[in-house]
Amino acid sequence: MDANLKAATARSLELAAAALRKNGFAAEVYPDGAAASAALLALAGSGKKIGLGGSVTLAELGLPEALAAAGNTVVTHKPGMPPEERRAVWLSALDSDIYLASPQAVTLDGKLLFVDGNGNRCAALTWGPRKTVLIAGVNKLARDQQEGLWRSRNVAAIANNIRLGKQNPCVKSGRCEDCASPQRICNAVTMLWKKPAASDVLVMLVNQPLGY
Ligand code: SF4
Repeated sequence: MDANLKAATARSLELAAAALRKNGFAAEVYPDGAAASAALLALAGSGKKIGLGGSVTLAELGLPEALAAAGNTVVTHKPGMPPEERRAVWLSALDSDIYLASPQAVTLDGKLLFVDGNGNRCAALTWGPRKTVLIAGVNKLARDQQEGLWRSRNVAAIANNIRLGKQNPCVKSGRCEDCASPQRICNAVTMLWKKPAASDVLVMLVNQPLGY
């Protein structure tokens, strides 16, 4: 990233972090993914149960493998799992020591937005895990919740449809068509306006594009 642009986006991330803190979340800004990963691995240590929400950001950072290599038990479902096995994994992830995910949008006024096809991640973000850590690259910043919803549907969802090989209408048209497709991946929304009262949430903002 150009140095001037990186300095500018660092300021935007600091603004978002300050707003998140006002809304009750812990929030830190990291210059790049390597710094955020090192901080997360230090925080997790070993011997923990780590629940994962599906996330390209976490995969890009190699965190599932790094956390397992450090001696943690990583709980996440795999494609093609039988429904009952998948349900058991999702319930187990709710009861994790640390739940890791990445929002589709972080707003400059300190809100966090998630859109799910199944809703297991949306559920875990409101209550359950002892600690939740959310990692977001600078590309997830949005001005407000309306812009966050727009990016979730018109940027993140289209890329995810392509990644998952789903032929939903947005893949062809390049914009969300609010489809009625049985393969639709945008079914549940969790918007965290403030930190849920019984949850412990850390947001790690990274000055590098990560995921969708
Ligand atoms: S067209 Fe359907 S799958 Fe695609 S972004 Fe819109 S609601 Fe989601």
